[in-house]
Amino acid sequence: MAPRTTFRIGGPAEFLVEVHTMAELLGVLEVVGKYGLPLHILGNGSNVLVPDEGVPGVVLVLEGDLADRRIEGTRVVAGGGCNLARLAVEVSRMGLGGLHFACAIPGTVGAGLVINAGAHGGEMSQVVAEAEVVWPEDGRVQRLRPEEIGFGYRTSRLLGTSAIVTEVVFDLYPADRDELAARMKELLERRRATQPLGLPNAGSIFKNPPGDYAGRLIEAAGCKGWRVGDAQVSEKHANFIVNLGRATARDVITLALKVRDAVESRFGVRLEPEVRIWGPNPFR
Ligand SMILES: Cc1cc2nc3c(=O)[nH]c(=O)nc-3n(C[C@H](O)[C@H](O)[C@H](O)COP(=O)(O)OP(=O)(O)OC[C@H]3O[C@@H](n4cnc5c(N)ncnc54)[C@H](O)[C@@H]3O)c2cc1C
Repeated sequence: MAPRTTFRIGGPAEFLVEVHTMAELLGVLEVVGKYGLPLHILGNGSNVLVPDEGVPGVVLVLEGDLADRRIEGTRVVAGGGCNLARLAVEVSRMGLGGLHFACAIPGTVGAGLVINAGAHGGEMSQVVAEAEVVWPEDGRVQRLRPEEIGFGYRTSRLLGTSAIVTEVVFDLYPADRDELAARMKELLERRRATQPLGLPNAGSIFKNPPGDYAGRLIEAAGCKGWRVGDAQVSEKHANFIVNLGRATARDVITLALKVRDAVESRFGVRLEPEVRIWGPNPFR
């Protein structure tokens, strides 16, 4: 799985299955149910820590129709596997505003919905009109309105459930293309200046606690540069852990727990992980 994650970490999946249509997806879910196989959904692997020993059962990737998009006036209908950053750039270039905040979020639309991905004051909740999910237990397809999705800061009511996001409908607005292009350029430049984009990572390791920034607390607790094996608290941005080459999931978890404990003992704030850990969660 390592090559399929931006951390470049993780052992093999027992079965990696790419599905291209809703019919294929429902067919695979039937087999998964029949044999009682564990199931994981993988997007772009940019917010996930996969165990070193690998993943039992099926890892499902949404491709083809389930990763496509169509644009109908100011409405954009995207498959759960659609690349969010690419979509944000495409629609912004067409003069549709609202999704430009996502121009540098290297994930998929489906994962972004579940976690209410956001940046620079924008987040999915502001532009989502509707979503379609499939429940793997019985293959039920359900359409959800924003109030049913229940968005919060880097969370939604879907987080921690088995729902597979197969489609998201965005409600955008007409906007000036040049202004959107300038805004996106600024966001990308700011990222290049502040984030360790040259080394494998999974974005922010911890969520920001209310009224503060995880990166500020981690830096103030003196954790910048801390290292376990080849996992290191980035020198550039303290809320990123980078893989210096051969980091394991165990290295990352050990380091993240040390950081969490250091921040808690210094500031009394218990940081919550933003990265999704497959397998037993040591942060509970
Ligand atoms: C350099 C960098 C910068 C980042 N910047 C930001 C940022 O500014 N803002 C932000 O919010 N995030 C950011 N992230 C984190 C990440 O890109 C987002 O959380 C993104 O939404 C994850 O999408 P993904 O497809 O890569 O998910 P994955 O890592 O593949 O999966 C994450 C979780 O979502 C589940 N999942 C995946 N697809 C689906 C689906 N279709 N239905 C249901 N569950 C699904 C998976 O099972 C997994 O548990 C950044 C990451 C990196 C590496």
